[in-house]
Amino acid sequence: MTKADSQPILHKSRAERAAANLPGDPAQSGFDWSTYRQWIDGLPGGGINIAHEAVDRHVAQGHGADEALRWLGRDGARRTFTYDDLKRETDRFARLLTDLGHGKGVRVFALLGRVPATIIAALGTMKAGGVFCPLYSAFGPEPVRARMTIGEASVLVTTTADYARKVQPWRSDLPSLRHVLLTDGAGAEPEGTIDLGAALAGTASDFTIASTSPDDMALLHFTSGTTGKPKGAVHVHEAVVAHHATGRLVLDLRPGDVFWCTADPGWVTGTSYGIIAPLTNRVTMMLDEAEFDAARWYQTLEREQVTVWYTAPTAIRLLVKAGNELPSRHDLSRLRFMASVGEPLNAEAVIWGREVLGHPFHDNWWQTETGGIMVANFAGMDVKPGSMGKPIPGVEAAIVAIEGEKVVPLTGAMVTGQLALRPGWPSMFRAYLGEAARYAACFRDGWYLTGDLARRDDDGYFWFAGRADDVIKSAGHLIGPTEVEACLLEHPAVAEAAAIGIPDERAGEVVKAFVTLRQGQVPGEALSRELLGHARKRLGAAIAPRQVEIRADLPRTRSGKIMRRLLRARELGLPEGDLSTLENPA
Ligand code: AMP
Repeated sequence: MTKADSQPILHKSRAERAAANLPGDPAQSGFDWSTYRQWIDGLPGGGINIAHEAVDRHVAQGHGADEALRWLGRDGARRTFTYDDLKRETDRFARLLTDLGHGKGVRVFALLGRVPATIIAALGTMKAGGVFCPLYSAFGPEPVRARMTIGEASVLVTTTADYARKVQPWRSDLPSLRHVLLTDGAGAEPEGTIDLGAALAGTASDFTIASTSPDDMALLHFTSGTTGKPKGAVHVHEAVVAHHATGRLVLDLRPGDVFWCTADPGWVTGTSYGIIAPLTNRVTMMLDEAEFDAARWYQTLEREQVTVWYTAPTAIRLLVKAGNELPSRHDLSRLRFMASVGEPLNAEAVIWGREVLGHPFHDNWWQTETGGIMVANFAGMDVKPGSMGKPIPGVEAAIVAIEGEKVVPLTGAMVTGQLALRPGWPSMFRAYLGEAARYAACFRDGWYLTGDLARRDDDGYFWFAGRADDVIKSAGHLIGPTEVEACLLEHPAVAEAAAIGIPDERAGEVVKAFVTLRQGQVPGEALSRELLGHARKRLGAAIAPRQVEIRADLPRTRSGKIMRRLLRARELGLPEGDLSTLENPA
């Protein structure tokens, strides 16, 4: 019996199907990208701008007084912004960029976390025709520097503390960085920085959105591969067609919803579904500054009357662990739809959702490169717990084998192969910034190769089966082993380094590094601890390894490449056979 056969199906009632934005089987919907293009406005003079679809069009249509953003501060603060407020603030931010002499194409980076300034900077930048690049606030100085350098940042929006620790020490090496805007400036800013609040207060709030075309670059999202530096995935304004449509069809969003996407805006989910999709669908989107806390989350769901909730397996695992008594104390009856993304969601968690919270978690799949959800369990569809669901209408997905230059679709049920997508959806990444060869390597024989392994069952549901490469997923964040290894190699004691993911009850996977030492270095606990501290300081908690093991040597191929997969197999006691039979993309 295969995994799919052994799982129960959670059937949807006729009423649930009928009420969903996409009733029934997605494959039968008749929707495609030309339908979805009609769901957005476009700019008055032609062209598309994401911020127009997210904010200005609602104001123009008389919905300016609707609540757009509800922010919960870490310490109990609560602030709301209507669509009118967001229009004014984003206009002002765009105007400030222009007043500072920045034009179309300006690259604005944000290192901020879950605060309204991130949302305002993102949308204001896009209004000005610029490119917004969010950075995860738990990154240490090295990942920040690598991404801002590759992305040739022109503006950074951040806090005084993060600037001082993560940027100021190397700023002089990045001449493209013309302005640093500090959100907590208090009149005594470090040299070369601007107090954002004061600057905005002196800036007019009228702005005409730049005339951006569908193919103009709007967003830059960094991701990681097995080798090389972080990759800057380029997304364009046309992506909003996919953000909006998937928000409506997959997350079942509709005006009046209170929607909570728990992802950090430093990652792609926090932008596509933490900013763009909710606002284009004219819902009230929540943003909670605090870190995960089970009691706080249940309180928030109840008090804020959240109707649609989009979260991730790491958080769901923690909620399951916190027990069933806690949610039983809360009235969660306003919740209509719950979805999950980013890592494999086990069947038990899906079923737990239905039994304890009243709804199954609807898993869906996508990645930085796809820009938007590609495979999903839709609200109106039966859910097979453990499955990622079915492709979005308009997306052609296949399980394939790669045979040299040929890509061969595998049509048998539950056959494992690489998940491939037919290029052409609007939110598809258009480049890895400055890395044409790496981009080209993702496409073959008319397919985009996702780097994930999956299976499809007889009913057309897709099942995640693992990665085809060595990237690590920790607490939903993709980590490139080379970034960790490069940091360890900077330490004078280290000769070689290899980083792998090992299972972790909480985060799914955590990073474990193996190193060999240079001549004369003495292995031992003290050195391992020093290496851990070194990595943590430079990489930040999100990327740093949890363990560093010193070895006399590391397994290698005949050509001398370190075999991370063999290290992993040995570490986890897995068979060492079929470790590299599937080809990797960039
Ligand atoms: P990122 O580009 O950081 O969003 O990471 C994308 C990767 O996360 C995918 O290529 C998958 O390996 C993994 N992923 C995303 N969604 C799911 C899911 N629903 N089930 C399993 N893995 C997922």
